[in-house]
Parts: sequence; C-alpha cells; structure tokens
Amino acid sequence: MSMVMIGLEIHAQITALNSKLFCSCRGNYRDLRPNSNICEICCGLPGSLPIINQKAIEYSTMTSIALGCKVPDKIMFYRKNYFYPDLPKNFQITQYNVYGISSIGIEGKYELDDAKQIRISRIQLEEDPGRIVYSEGGMNVRNTALIDYNRAGVALIEIVTEPDFTGPKEVRQFLNKLSLTLEHLGVCDTLLEGSVRCDVNVSMNGGNKVEIKNINSFKEVEKAINYEITRQSSVYNRNLNIELETRHWDDKKKITFKARSKEEEHDYRYFPEPDIPVIVLGSDFVSNLKQRMPELPNQRFERFILKYKLSEHTSNILINDKKLADFFESTLKLHFSPTEIANILVTDFKSLIEDDTESTDYLKNLKVKPEHIAELAKLIEGNKISRITAKDILVKIFESGKLPSEVVNSSNSYKIADEKTIMDAVQSVFDTEKSAVEDAKKNREAINFLLGKVMKFTNGRADPKIAMRLINSKLSAPEKQ
Ligand code: ZN
Ligand code: MN
Repeated sequence: MSMVMIGLEIHAQITALNSKLFCSCRGNYRDLRPNSNICEICCGLPGSLPIINQKAIEYSTMTSIALGCKVPDKIMFYRKNYFYPDLPKNFQITQYNVYGISSIGIEGKYELDDAKQIRISRIQLEEDPGRIVYSEGGMNVRNTALIDYNRAGVALIEIVTEPDFTGPKEVRQFLNKLSLTLEHLGVCDTLLEGSVRCDVNVSMNGGNKVEIKNINSFKEVEKAINYEITRQSSVYNRNLNIELETRHWDDKKKITFKARSKEEEHDYRYFPEPDIPVIVLGSDFVSNLKQRMPELPNQRFERFILKYKLSEHTSNILINDKKLADFFESTLKLHFSPTEIANILVTDFKSLIEDDTESTDYLKNLKVKPEHIAELAKLIEGNKISRITAKDILVKIFESGKLPSEVVNSSNSYKIADEKTIMDAVQSVFDTEKSAVEDAKKNREAINFLLGKVMKFTNGRADPKIAMRLINSKLSAPEKQ
C-alpha cells in the first residue's frame, strides 16, 4: 500500500459582503454585464487608494476562530507581484507571514468525524483576480480568451492546510465540514458558482509534490485526487520519477494535465502594501467577536439533541443541510413538535427535494413553507390523518402549495376512526383472504399482513390501532356455525 499525502489550499469568497475588499464595487458580481462592476481602485489606476472593508476582517477572523487558529493582534497586507491578464494591477493584495506579523489566522486545528486533526497552516485575507473566459475547447486550446474584471477585488479567504490527508475520503469529509462551517458563519454561500475553489497537492511514497490547480468546485476535488493518485502510481510502478510540477484540472475531460512550466515560474517579490497601514486588531476585537459568533455546526448538533431530543442520526441529517435545519427551526416556531416535524423533514420531505438540493435557493423557491409542515404535523398528532396519508398529502402540497387542511378536505383523506366503517373493511378482507386468516390464527405475525390489506382497502385512511383491535377480536371470536 502506497503512502499518500494530500494538502489543500482553499479559496472561499466572502459572499456575505455587499462590496469588494478594497472598494465600493459590488461584492456580488454574478449576472452583471462583463466589466461593469469595476472602478479605479479594483483596476489599480494610478492615484487610487484601497480602503479595507472592515466586515471582511470580521468574517475572516470568525473563520480563523472556527478553524481553531490563533488570531494575531496585528495584521498587514502585502503585494504579491505577478503578471497575468486576470490581475488588473499586476499584483494581488494579500497577506504574508514574515517579520513577526502574520495573516489573520495561523496554526489552526480542525477535527474530522473520527477525531483526526487536520492542521491549518494559515488563513489569509486577499482579493480575487478577475475571470478569464476561454474560448470553446478549454484552456489548452486557446486562440482567444476574454477577460472580465467584475470579480477582481472580491474578498477571498485563503485556507491552507498541512499535508495531513491520506486519501480523497478525508478530503471530502473536511470540505463538507468546512462548507457547513462557512455557511453557519454566514461567510460564504458555498453553492454559488465559483464561490469556493481548491488547489490540491498530492505526493506519494515520499516523492515529489504535485500541485493541481483550478479545481472549481469541492465536488471535483475528489475526482482530481483520484485521477492524480492513479497517475502517480503508474509512474511509480514503472520506476520513473514523479516530477515536481504544477498541473491543471480539466473538469470536462476529468484529467489533470501539466501546466506550461514558464507560466508557473513565479518570483512574487512580496513587499508590504504601502497604501494600507498595519492594522491593530487588539485582544478585545477577538473576544467581542467570539461572543457574537453564530452557532457552529457542532454546537447546533448538540443543541438539537439536548433541546429537541432528536436522535444523533436525525440531528446529523438536519445539520448537514443548513437550509433544511433552518427550515426545521422555523417550523418549530409555529408548532413545537420536534420529533414529528423532524421525522417528516428527514424522510418524506427530503426524498421529495433530493433532486433540487444542488441549487442555492431550492427551499426559497419551494411552494411548501414551514406553515405547511406545521399544519401537517398537527393533523397527524390530532389523529386526523394517518402517516401513510400524510405522505400523499405532502406530495400534493409540493405540487399545489395548498395548505394540508385544504388538501385533506378536498381529497376526503381524513383518517377513518368510525368503527363500523373499519369493521366493514375488516370483514371484506376476511372474506377474500381466507387462508391468511387461518394462518393468522396460528401465527400472530401474519396479522400484519391482514392489517396491511385493511389499510390498502381504505386507501391508508383507517386508524391502524382500531383496525388492529378489530382484527384481533375477530380472530379470537368463536366461529359462527
Ligand atoms: Zn472597484
Ligand atoms: Mn491565494
């Protein structure tokens, strides 16, 4: 078995911000006409001066705290110089850890589910470059490319881990947890296109480190790593050296390919950004922020178990989808019945939305609101409808947006509690299922079969408790001669 070491460099946009990191252009550049969200600052015109976005410092500090990092008293910014068309200034304002002043977070630790610790080397605040739009065929068939600077200057949080991962599964778990954390902090809507990107370095058997750049979604990371491990294994098995190199991920062909070496030869000539002074955060800043920190996923998980008495399993399903967990808690505000409502949400509700969870607003666009689920739970608890019927009603609510009571009224699907009606159903099942009846007299487990038939006969509407009682009494009654 070969030893794999994987490290990550993640870039997450602070999508919560209204403006860019150093100017007042919009933070949300999506869906805007190309090059319409730019100004002299983010384009680096002579004489323009950057002004740091205070909220960006708060959000990146919260992220550092959540990832177990130390936050220093002072931070400063650096110019990272390189010439590339996506960078209008020819340098990126970023952070750099030298001369005793560090970036917004250092030396963190983040725990995976099995308590394995992943070390975080640093977290820094920096600006996003613009976007190069390549012509058809991808970046290695480039005759023409277009450039859009709307994104240039958007606030990014860069998170760098030590090479502590031993396989793609750990990486996936880490990225899922990280996404949840960023969502709970309100820092980043990770479902937005391009809001989270990842570079991965992979080395095997102590060999050279290969960096894979430009993986534009967390989902592709696992594929890129798997591809790279296979590629490196085959090189290794042929007794060849794995070259120290940078590769790109082609998300159409699902392969990594060697980057042109010239374009990766950088000497960044970092130097302190002269237009932004050293920023003194102070110890109060961090302690105040800690008090205002939103609840983190782990804390929320514990609270769901303690306060709502949910099982770990149910709590986990809810927490792993922040929007669903929010929906759950909004429903509780209308009707406090945690177990029933959680049950509806993690089973029938979730199976109905499963296909849409990839889109950011899938719950916002849904016709079903917390009001609907609250009412549905009340109908079940009030013994007005059976759980079987509840599922059908939920499907109808999803389609129409009508309230459950309306659907129940119009479709006549109230639970049947009338003994006479249920007895009629039991009688006709006994008439048609003679051998099952004989069976059930000897083998009590066969009763469930009869109950199932009665439920089916009444379209799931019979009160199962009453039906069960009637079946039992009929089975034990002396047979009429
Ligand atoms: Zn601007
Ligand atoms: Mn970076």
